[in-house]
Amino acid sequence: MKVPLLDLQKQYETIKTEIREVTEEVFASQRFIMGPKVEELERQIADYCGCRFGVGVSSGTDALLISLMSAGVGFGDRVITTPYTFFATVGTIVRTGARPLFVDIREDTFNLDPQGLEKLLLSLPGEERNKVKAIIPVHLYGQCADMGPILDLAGRFGLTVIEDAAQAIGAEYELGKDGMRRAGSMGDYGCFSFFPSKNLGAFGDGGMVIANDVQIHERLEKMRNHGASPKYYHAMVGGNFRLDALQAAILAVKLRYLDEWTRGRQENAARYRALFKAAGLDQIRLPAEKEKRHIYNQFVIRVPENRNALKTFLGEQGIGCEIYYPVPLHMQSCFKDLGYEEKDFPVSVKAAETSLALPIFSELTLDQIHYVVDIIAQFFNSKKN
Ligand SMILES: *Cc1c(COP(=O)(O)O)cnc(C)c1O
Repeated sequence: MKVPLLDLQKQYETIKTEIREVTEEVFASQRFIMGPKVEELERQIADYCGCRFGVGVSSGTDALLISLMSAGVGFGDRVITTPYTFFATVGTIVRTGARPLFVDIREDTFNLDPQGLEKLLLSLPGEERNKVKAIIPVHLYGQCADMGPILDLAGRFGLTVIEDAAQAIGAEYELGKDGMRRAGSMGDYGCFSFFPSKNLGAFGDGGMVIANDVQIHERLEKMRNHGASPKYYHAMVGGNFRLDALQAAILAVKLRYLDEWTRGRQENAARYRALFKAAGLDQIRLPAEKEKRHIYNQFVIRVPENRNALKTFLGEQGIGCEIYYPVPLHMQSCFKDLGYEEKDFPVSVKAAETSLALPIFSELTLDQIHYVVDIIAQFFNSKKN
């Protein structure tokens, strides 16, 4: 049996007609840059996330970069995040001229550890602490970071909060008396990616920043278009961070199905849990579901022993799987100059050595899920003998 890590073709079959209609509309209008389709999507994504404003941008990476630029982060500043995330979270910090400061992740959720954050902030000498401008909590795999204490600390130390919600559209977190809040709506900026493998994927690159503050919204709108306002008059330097009308039109169609697709992922996660439990495999650890609602962009198990051999075996049996991520960012050769050592962030290092993402996309069949669990059981049973 073949079980790909992700199969977008099945999904496309179900929405083909609608996609063709809206793309035909854009073709007929010959209006490809910005315009009503982008504005409509911004409204819809902001509403979906429980936030006031949305600004469509060219990618999740650019969502992070424009947020940092808008927050005034620049040369010599410090920005805090974790070393266990997709490269863009840290790549964008460095591109502004700022220096990343890392806080290790929690053992259970792979997300930023608020206690580690407090420890770091309190341990920095005053001069260094004053350079810290922002923090980027990442909602890894589709589960929110522990935002309550993170927001408290950001408030206490006067830091801008930029949520990297690229993997977490629609994920929820219970924020004290504010009740359930969606990923991206809790900080000053919420960054999303519409890369095709995300829960809401475009037919190419795309992204969005959401915000509640009117001034931030206005600044983002200018910055995504070279800082121009009015046209050809520049009070600030921005970039070309625009979202295409075609992508916006496609995303608006797909947004109508997002909750259904997310439910499919959650059901698949529940099936894995039940089947792994029945198989009694104590050689793996299932993902912790700490914050509700987890949207399962990835279903990542931990395999403390023989992870690489298991990955190879799954591949041979036709099962797609992936390591997100094999090298923590403090160990990337391009960040050698930061002077970190491997042992500085042991939880991230361990995560890189033991994590394995299994297929979780909503169109997986029950047979396929059974097959994945059976093959993993087979692998470990053969090890015992
Ligand atoms: C995908 C992703 C990004 C970058 O998004 P792109 O649209 O690929 O630029 C940033 N951060 C995280 C955590 C991601 O998963």
